[in-house]
Order: sequence, then C-alpha cells, then structure tokens
Amino acid sequence: MSFADLGLSDELLQSVTAAGYDTPTPIQAQAIPSVLMMRDLIGIAQTGTGKTASFVLPMIDILAHGRRRALMPRSLILEPTRELAAQVAENFEKYGKNHDLKMALLIGGVQMGDQVKALSDGVDVLIATPGRLMDLFERGKILLTGCDLLVIDEADRMLDMGFIPDIETICSKLPAQRQTLLFSATMPPPIKKLADKFLSNPKYIEV
Ligand code: AMP
Repeated sequence: MSFADLGLSDELLQSVTAAGYDTPTPIQAQAIPSVLMMRDLIGIAQTGTGKTASFVLPMIDILAHGRRRALMPRSLILEPTRELAAQVAENFEKYGKNHDLKMALLIGGVQMGDQVKALSDGVDVLIATPGRLMDLFERGKILLTGCDLLVIDEADRMLDMGFIPDIETICSKLPAQRQTLLFSATMPPPIKKLADKFLSNPKYIEV
C-alpha cells in the first residue's frame, strides 16, 4: 500500500513526499480513503501511530476542493490540550502549504484579541480546545453553522478532563448534516455514548 493508492490529490502527495513519508501507517491506510468518501469515522489509535496525518491530509483535500463559505469556518478540530492543538496546527501548516487554507488556533493562555481578529478575517479550519471555543462562542465571536466537518481528537482524554458536556454543547451548534471523525486511544462507555449520539454509521478502525 502506498500513499498514491489512498485517493489523495497530487498536491497532497507532494506534501507527503516532502514530509519524508513513503508508506502510510495502518491508521492512515484505513482512515484516509474513508474520510475522503465523507464517511463518519471512529479511530481507536494511540498517539505515535500517525493518526494526526490520517485526518489532516484528507481534510486539506476536502477543504481545498470545496467552496469557501464567506467568513464562516468550514471545519473544526477539537483537542484536549493547548499543546496538542498547537501540534495539529503545525501539521496543518506543514501538509497544507501548497493550499490557500486559513486556520485559526483557538486555545487558552493566548490573548483573545488576535484570535477574534483571525476569525473576522475568515478561516477554513478552527483548531481549538473546548474551553476557549465555548468562551468565544458565548461572546458571539464564532459562527459554527458552516462547520460540517468535525474532528474530536483524543476523546478519552477529553473525558478525563471533564470536557464531554462542552463537546455535547458544541456538537449541538454544528449543522446536523456533517461529517464527524472521533479518535480515542480507548473506548470507555461515555465515549461510546457520545459516538452513538453524534456520529452516523461510522467506519470503525482499531490499530
Ligand atoms: P502522530 O501519531 O500523528 O502523533 O504521529 C507520530 C509521528 O509519526 C509524527 O512525528 C509524524 O510526523 C510521523 N508520521 C506520521 N505519518 C508517518 C508516515 N506515514 N511515515 C513516517 N512517519 C510518519
């Protein structure tokens, strides 16, 4: 199996080569074609398996080939910590440099002013921790009605950190017709319940 078999565009394949990868990891081989087919997904994978690229690469292709919707973000990636959010943002920049996609990193510990400015300039992707996203949403600074691609990453850590109620609220603000990808290292009952409620006929991958 090579990256060229997964359905990614030529531009993305160039970014993958530039990143120095020649073979997709098992989660990438299984997740990328399914995400490109717009299916919901549950990925049971630890950090270190290449799971970040398994959602960032197909997301870039989907966003690059879809139509930009004025100032509304089109996708949202939720991460439990600032550090993980920043790492995903770096991945987005690395793989997305051939594409004109705008991203906003919405994390705590950073002045809200710059984040609000980035939002008002229009973004394609929000990469956020739940607390800061809720804060900005409650202040009326974010419209989530155009976000029809959602990633909930590290769901079991979200659970440990008490973020599930925030995630439920955020999911209820997104369009009901959307693609949702959920990644978790384990599948405790509250995460299973969350997936049953917010995902539709997901492909299940465990690596
Ligand atoms: P992650 O599980 O997403 O945190 O990725 C773990 C590490 O694997 C990161 O440093 C990636 O740059 C690297 N990586 C991801 N995909 C591949 C691949 N297909 N081949 C080699 N390294 C990879």
